[in-house]
Amino acid sequence: MNEALRQKLADLPVSPGVYLMKDRDGKVVYVGKAVNLRSRVRSYFQPSTSDTRAFVPFLEEILGDIEIILVHTEKEALILENTLIKRHKPRFNVQLRDDKAFICLRLDERHPYPRLEVVRRMKQDGARYFGPYSSATAIRETLRIINRYFQLRTCTDQVLEKRTRPCLLYQIKRCPAPCVYEVPKEEYARSVRETILFLEGKEPELLDQLRGRMKVAAADLRFEDAARIRDQLRAIEHSLERQRTVFSEAIDQDVFGSWREGPDLVIEALFIRTGKLVSAQSFPFTGQEFPTEELLASFVDQYYATGAAVPDEVLLPLPVENAGLTAEVLSERKGRKVRVLVPKRGEKRRLVELAVKNAEQAFVEAKKRNRSNVEILERLESRLELARLPRRIECFDISNFQGTMVVASQVAALDGEPDKSRYRHYRIKTFEGQDDFAAIYEVISRRVARGDLPDLLLIDGGKGQLNAARAAVKDAGLLGQVDLASLAEAKVEGETREGAAWKSAERVFLPGRKDPIVLRQNSAENFVLVRLRDEAHRFAVTFHQKLRRARNFRSVLEEITGVGEKRRRALLRHFGSLKRIRAATAEEIAEVEGFNQALARRVVEFLHRREEDPDRDSELPEGAAQSMDEAAEIGEAIEDRDSAAEAQLAAAKELAAAERNGAAPGATSLPPADDAVRPLSPGEVQPTEKIRD
Ligand code: SF4
Repeated sequence: MNEALRQKLADLPVSPGVYLMKDRDGKVVYVGKAVNLRSRVRSYFQPSTSDTRAFVPFLEEILGDIEIILVHTEKEALILENTLIKRHKPRFNVQLRDDKAFICLRLDERHPYPRLEVVRRMKQDGARYFGPYSSATAIRETLRIINRYFQLRTCTDQVLEKRTRPCLLYQIKRCPAPCVYEVPKEEYARSVRETILFLEGKEPELLDQLRGRMKVAAADLRFEDAARIRDQLRAIEHSLERQRTVFSEAIDQDVFGSWREGPDLVIEALFIRTGKLVSAQSFPFTGQEFPTEELLASFVDQYYATGAAVPDEVLLPLPVENAGLTAEVLSERKGRKVRVLVPKRGEKRRLVELAVKNAEQAFVEAKKRNRSNVEILERLESRLELARLPRRIECFDISNFQGTMVVASQVAALDGEPDKSRYRHYRIKTFEGQDDFAAIYEVISRRVARGDLPDLLLIDGGKGQLNAARAAVKDAGLLGQVDLASLAEAKVEGETREGAAWKSAERVFLPGRKDPIVLRQNSAENFVLVRLRDEAHRFAVTFHQKLRRARNFRSVLEEITGVGEKRRRALLRHFGSLKRIRAATAEEIAEVEGFNQALARRVVEFLHRREEDPDRDSELPEGAAQSMDEAAEIGEAIEDRDSAAEAQLAAAKELAAAERNGAAPGATSLPPADDAVRPLSPGEVQPTEKIRD
């Protein structure tokens, strides 16, 4: 350890704060918090330390510097630690890679005709939230039942205001159509109350109410109504049956368990709502050096910092540092006391053991999956005669719109599985126009300049694209440090006798090799490359669409006097798209930050004039987006807004498919969701759940 660092350790203050350990290149490798910075940080370097973690012995070797940030309280330290972990992504911290994984349902009862929305995170906005669900797939079954039996509208507020006749959902008796008809508010409010009881798992209360209503309907000879309520009862009973009662008290609990073998670890979360085990999720981590207690504590803090629902109790398998502080922060968020416990015996201990058992199972399955992926990659390495096992592959694709707005995508796979933390978009900066080779050269140059090279750079294209990539690597002086290949798409070469397109095989080009290699078309090796190439293509095209939509949005609105950049952004944040702004009334627009009635009317009039002269929309001035960065940012905002709508659309499509297939009430037409949280059947131990990212 150098003298400066030794002095720094000696001068550490005795106060709460956060410390950032940096390696010799200045890269943050670990972020931790401490009530007493001096004793915490020094403990890593005590010769008598009983710390057995693998990281500590070579800590002195890799450590270049320690930075500290002083705070007033432990609570501030906890919040700052989470922020810094997110920002620096240190390799020795556990990280929740994608907090978008936590999907919830939102219900705003302040609206006279509320609807359920799929949202990415909970907010303190006065609405009710239900969840978390780990994926859109996990939410579908719940939405399917609600849409079918609880009759809440599914359309947005703007659509509700604008409709002049009901949509299909009214025709198939899924919505009373408050968009057009006078639906009694009390009747709709009753549906809302029942939906809440269903989502909160308050089964006896809900079933009692429905049975009462069914009897009244039958007594009044309203047999159609009685039959509908009977079907609703059956579907709810069927759905609730699948949730196993695991705790005698009707409280909400999140139970965490962990399983670790060396540096690999799985943390399992069981979600218990009103005493019923409703779902579970596994979080796998690799390359972890720190003790499990420390990882678990950091994980729990990060998990709730993402906006996940706070239960009444958090049960942990091991005592963790600062459990009291975590409980305090969670209680503050929930508005009532939350307990963080490490149960030693009884019912709660059994729940923790169940979580640990699930973590072990998830761990074993993840290991198996990894082994088979490594075998596939070994075959790929041998077939393409690569210099190294392609554990990390990055694939690049170029997209443009009639030679303008050229963008590139970078997608990545780690051990054959998508690694979204390494997905990137590039805006081509060095030239205008359509030149795939120049674009590839620029993107690969920029990528390799960032360092941390993958094992294989895969380019979407043929020999020309590959040569451009090779030239970029060569010019960077990195030839030989990364393998290169390009994958040319299968071409349609003719027609089969049945009239179907007959395609050539996908071809892999390699540097210095004249003829391409053709992998067996249905082989797993081919699948790894094709899937990645297709993903790169999809990623490039969706980014491109976002840019174009953003450009369209900007170029139309920037013609309105008084609507500058700030207001355009406010409009986009509020409505999400030009289409929705067109559907909005002046009163709605006036509610947007920065708008008054007069300006809102001007926007409406302008857009109506546009509608009467639709051709004008296509006359987009070149370079309407002030910068690609701004356009991309707007695009991101659109995507966030649309993702919820997409999830609902997907659910609606499933519903329609189930209808077409004549699925019985309560039956699901969805394929088994092996990659998502699903309700647990009685007695079932939840198998491995892959995290969607
Ligand atoms: S009928 Fe359709 S458009 Fe009308 S309120 Fe219901 S979901 Fe919305």
